[in-house]
Amino acid sequence: MNYRRLGRAGIKVSELSFGSWVTFGPQIGVGEATEILGYAYEQGINFFDNAEAYSSGESERIMGAAIAQLGWPRHSYLVSSKFYWGIHDTVNARFTLNRKYLIEAVNASLERFGLDHLDLIYCHRPDAETPIEETVYTMHELVAEHKAHYWGTSEWSADEIRAAIDIARAQHLHAPVVEQPEYNMLARTKVEVEYKRLLDEEGIGLTTWSPLASGLLTGKYANGIPAGSRASLPGYEWLKDMLTDPKSTAIVKQLEPIAKSIDVTMGQLAIGWCLDNPKVSTVILGASNRAQLEENLGAQVAHERITPEIRDAITAILNGK
Ligand code: NDP
Repeated sequence: MNYRRLGRAGIKVSELSFGSWVTFGPQIGVGEATEILGYAYEQGINFFDNAEAYSSGESERIMGAAIAQLGWPRHSYLVSSKFYWGIHDTVNARFTLNRKYLIEAVNASLERFGLDHLDLIYCHRPDAETPIEETVYTMHELVAEHKAHYWGTSEWSADEIRAAIDIARAQHLHAPVVEQPEYNMLARTKVEVEYKRLLDEEGIGLTTWSPLASGLLTGKYANGIPAGSRASLPGYEWLKDMLTDPKSTAIVKQLEPIAKSIDVTMGQLAIGWCLDNPKVSTVILGASNRAQLEENLGAQVAHERITPEIRDAITAILNGK
């Protein structure tokens, strides 16, 4: 496993990491989570991503219980959670980054995890109503009080991230060091275009999500929705159109021969392609069982096999040429 600096922050993250969205709770309980996390750790993964909103806190509980069973020393892994959506239906605790919500939500998350600190905490989305100053000051305090070591954003615009950095810098506060954007062969604009200057100038780290576009880039949705897949789960109907989009399916079909030519699976090619972007600190993998994770870790080999010619051939297909 290779380790990359989290932007300009001092810590290093495994270039492949593991997240529990959708899976922990609806698909995976503590037993299987322990098996999967144990395997991931043995393979060198040191960063595990979560969020308060994943299965309304259940995902954090499952990850915390699995980590406790595995008995990992605290210095050997990084764990994150994200805040914004909220899990309580009251006016100040949903879709917000206000001070009251953030402090109470981080404390509740720590309790669910059974940890006294997280490594990274993210503002899961921007909040147009709370002043950025209030959010920056609160995230700074959470870091200063050692509830987390670093803070970052997820799916904020480049301007919003820059505003947060400027406020922190002017007030000598802990600034955001990482952004968590979607990044995959079918979702490139934010990372490759919008954030370009921000990444060059500020050295923000990127922990990228949905490298397989929720499974679409494995090719598994080519003939409809397979039983038991993410798109078949109750509550995830909203993903169906994206996962069976004919244009995306056609792109996957064109990419499949390239994967074959370097003797990797389509999913491994898709994840290896994310690794090929040096601005990416870590690609957060998702898997609903251990076999998927085993396959996906083969992306390291796929990455080694992506020569400049292969990269150009992929770019031509993605750009519709
Ligand atoms: P992917 O795009 O890689 O999708 C993972 C899903 O694809 C799996 O759960 C599985 O679903 C399917 N899959 C994975 N590997 C294989 C395989 N080898 N063969 C067939 N099917 C496979 O990643 P996620 O969308 O899960 O995102 C990864 C992580 O990123 C999340 O866990 C979370 O931590 C983070 N994230 C952050 C977001 C944010 O807003 N900050 C948003 C979304 C994710 P199944 O078997 O059920 O079909």
